[in-house]
Amino acid sequence: MASLLAAGKDNGLDYEMLRGAEARAKYPEHVIRDRDVTIFDPEGGYLNSEKAVTAALVEATRLGAKFLGNRKAHSVETYGDRYVVRTDQEEIIASRVIISQGNGAGAVCKELGVHLSVLPQILTWFPAVNPAAFCRDDMPVFLRRAEEDGRPDKAQLYGFPSADGWTVKVVASIFLDEVESMEKPPTWDPQHLDTIRAWVREFIPELIPDPVRVAMCADGHLPDATALFGTAPGMEGVIVAAGFSGHGFKMASALGAIAADLVLEGTTATDVSFMNPARFLEQDTRLRSLALS
Ligand SMILES: Cc1cc2nc3c(=O)[nH]c(=O)nc-3n(C[C@H](O)[C@H](O)[C@H](O)COP(=O)(O)OP(=O)(O)OC[C@H]3O[C@@H](n4cnc5c(N)ncnc54)[C@H](O)[C@@H]3O)c2cc1C
Repeated sequence: MASLLAAGKDNGLDYEMLRGAEARAKYPEHVIRDRDVTIFDPEGGYLNSEKAVTAALVEATRLGAKFLGNRKAHSVETYGDRYVVRTDQEEIIASRVIISQGNGAGAVCKELGVHLSVLPQILTWFPAVNPAAFCRDDMPVFLRRAEEDGRPDKAQLYGFPSADGWTVKVVASIFLDEVESMEKPPTWDPQHLDTIRAWVREFIPELIPDPVRVAMCADGHLPDATALFGTAPGMEGVIVAAGFSGHGFKMASALGAIAADLVLEGTTATDVSFMNPARFLEQDTRLRSLALS
């Protein structure tokens, strides 16, 4: 296989596999050579993350949640049969605590015996020559790999239909060097952009290969690419959700429901044991506190 253009996710569904003229007719935005294979997942899709988070906040508020915001949590410590969360502004006593710090979870992962690697990626938005082509209702999210023999790079890029009517988000699946934290975002060599520009020129020539917007963001990755999710050992009321290794968003609703089970019922019917937060610690380790920064 020379190159593969796939939409969606690997979920065991019946995929539609196309090549040659048929594939070119279905995906006119992409360069598809005769040796390429395309695979379409009818259940693939994408979430507008800011809208999804806002909707979740609105719904949680409606159901009685109170958002404090703009404070830094430093630690959670056992306090009798409850816990005290120490922030830079107050101490909060709670019977249950959920810790979900994204790429800021380095300290809690360290306490759980594992290193969280914060790996930044450069996100890029390219203007379209003919924007309408990228606004089609049936244009899928795409993930493209090209690994031909003799090719010096293994091209892997992903992208989305246009969200704003004139630019298209296309990102190289390349991580920059690990950073300690994203509180001070790293500087990066502008040459990093050359790779994605070359891939856009090669595979999506209907985009102008000069990004008009560039952003940097990072997720926290664990060595086995599997999150820490569940009750902290020795702290029965503390749920840890950390290290989603680039895959946390799509699972957020399901993980939130499971975390709610763990908080409200102390157990869950979903088997999440493979994400046991104690798996990197010596057996029978019991913690009394966790650093959060
Ligand atoms: C470029 C990129 C592409 C991605 N693509 C996908 C994808 O296609 N599909 C997918 O499923 N996932 C994807 N992810 C991963 C996904 O975004 C994360 O796994 C997910 O957002 C993690 O959710 P979270 O709630 O644990 O953390 P976050 O969403 O990061 O939220 C954590 C919050 O906690 C706050 N915080 C941290 N520390 C403290 C502290 N000490 N005190 C107070 N507040 C604190 C942070 O400021 C932040 O607001 C991607 C990530 C990146 C970087």
